[in-house]
Amino acid sequence: MASECIFCDIVNAETDTEILHETDDLVVFKDINPHAPVHLLVVPKKHIRSINDLSPEDNTLIAALIVAGQHMAKQSGVAQSGYKLVFNVERGGGQMIFHLHLHLLGGWKR
Ligand code: 5GP
Ligand code: ZN
Repeated sequence: MASECIFCDIVNAETDTEILHETDDLVVFKDINPHAPVHLLVVPKKHIRSINDLSPEDNTLIAALIVAGQHMAKQSGVAQSGYKLVFNVERGGGQMIFHLHLHLLGGWKR
C-alpha cells in the first residue's frame, strides 16, 4: 500500500522507479527532474526526515550514503571531471521531500 512518503514507496518497490544501486541500507535512483546531466539520489531505506533528525546511531548510515555517492560517481563516469554531493536541509535549504537523501550532481561540460 502506498505510504505518505514517496521515497518510502520507492524504497519498498511500490513504484516503477529503476533502482541503479542497492545495499541493505540504501537505494540509488535517477532524479525525476534532473538539474545536471548526471543527477542521482542516494536514499537511506530508513525514513529520517532531514539532516536535523540524525542521531549518533545513524553515523554509519551517513558514511554509507557518501560512499555510495562516490561509487555512483565512478559508475556514472563523472568521478574525474568532478561532482557535487548535496543535502538540502528543510524548506529554507531547498528540501521538498522530507525523507533524507543525498544528491549526486555532475557531468557538466566545463
Ligand atoms: P529536495 O529538494 O527535497 O532536496 O530533492 C527532492 C528531489 O526529488 C527533487 O530533485 C525531485 O526532482 C526528486 N523527486 C521528487 N519526486 C520524485 C519521484 O517520484 N521520483 C524521482 N525519481 N525523483 C523524485
Ligand atoms: Zn520516507
